[in-house]
Amino acid sequence: MKHRYDLLLILLLLAAAGVLFFLLRPGSAGQYVLVTADGTEVGRYPLDEDRTVTIGEEDYNVLEIRDGAAAVTEANCGDHTCVRTGKIRRSGETIICLPHHLVVKIIGGGGETADAVSGGIS
Ligand SMILES: [Zn+2]
Repeated sequence: MKHRYDLLLILLLLAAAGVLFFLLRPGSAGQYVLVTADGTEVGRYPLDEDRTVTIGEEDYNVLEIRDGAAAVTEANCGDHTCVRTGKIRRSGETIICLPHHLVVKIIGGGGETADAVSGGIS
């Protein structure tokens, strides 16, 4: 009998943790991809809408937002560090293109709280 109650308690705790994780999950609604060049905002896109944006003309970076993650998939900068950074999806993560003075940053969606809670996960 006692064992059965323990199991119930564990299930309840797991359910509570699951709900909490879902609520604070990075990538939840409300997150944005903020793009700045030379410290000036040049674009702001919802992270939950797939799109591909080309930033700049002669010096360009192709920003791809897909499946709740943002990545620079193509650029004509010298080092391609921005392309090699790969995908970012958590609030506070950045892709930086030094040659183009470009910063792509994830903002919103619970911010520091989500980071603190999910720090050890994945
Ligand atoms: Zn670059």
